[in-house]
Amino acid sequence: MTAEIDRLDPEAGRLLFARECRFVAGATNEEILPPTTLPEVAFAGRSNVGKSSLVNALTGRNTLARVSHTPGRTQQINFFDLGERLMLVDLPGFGFAKVSKTQVRSWTDLIFRYLRGRPTLRRVCLLADARHGLKEVDREFMEQLDEAAVSYQLVLTKTDKLKPPELAARRADIAREIAGHVGAHPEIVATSAHAGLGIPELRAHLAALAEPAPIQ
Ligand code: GDP
Repeated sequence: MTAEIDRLDPEAGRLLFARECRFVAGATNEEILPPTTLPEVAFAGRSNVGKSSLVNALTGRNTLARVSHTPGRTQQINFFDLGERLMLVDLPGFGFAKVSKTQVRSWTDLIFRYLRGRPTLRRVCLLADARHGLKEVDREFMEQLDEAAVSYQLVLTKTDKLKPPELAARRADIAREIAGHVGAHPEIVATSAHAGLGIPELRAHLAALAEPAPIQ
């Protein structure tokens, strides 16, 4: 699969993310995944990467942090319907040091069952902390996504923590690395939830994947 360059329309992104975002379901096993009604974008990354902050910045709401950080819900796949156009899917954070290997295996199983078997899945946003770049778990995850023919896009978080030349160097390193991955989208999005950077750009990328708005 070759990832294509998205045709970005910031206004479409703004309008999409101004719509209501509603928690639909939390799935702890494959049997209870919600039906495939909308195009889906999943968010993945190591624990503490800034996933909740980013999704909250995108939607302008705190819903996701509340749901996804509720004890017991951090280990499930949470589905949010954005304006009946796009399903935002929050995957459990990986690389948590405090959980057992068995638990990690059962999340990984659930995540890959979801990722492999979801015909409506358009893209995975793989979040990486701009200060740290890609880690071994990210690379393994990317290889599994390549194998599963799932398309994914790198999103850098917390870029406010870097000086412009450091960020440019980080982007260049990652661009070099993803060039060797079939499933990786060529455009890396640099964001900061705290400073509001890259949010309109990421919204525009996601709007390109959403169900089109009906013609009035
Ligand atoms: P999650 O575990 O991936 O959902 O991560 P959170 O959104 O809970 O964020 C983890 C930590 O990173 C928190 O202390 C946040 O305040 C911090 N953080 C998240 N986004 C940003 C950002 O854009 N800039 C900075 N400097 N810190 C951030």
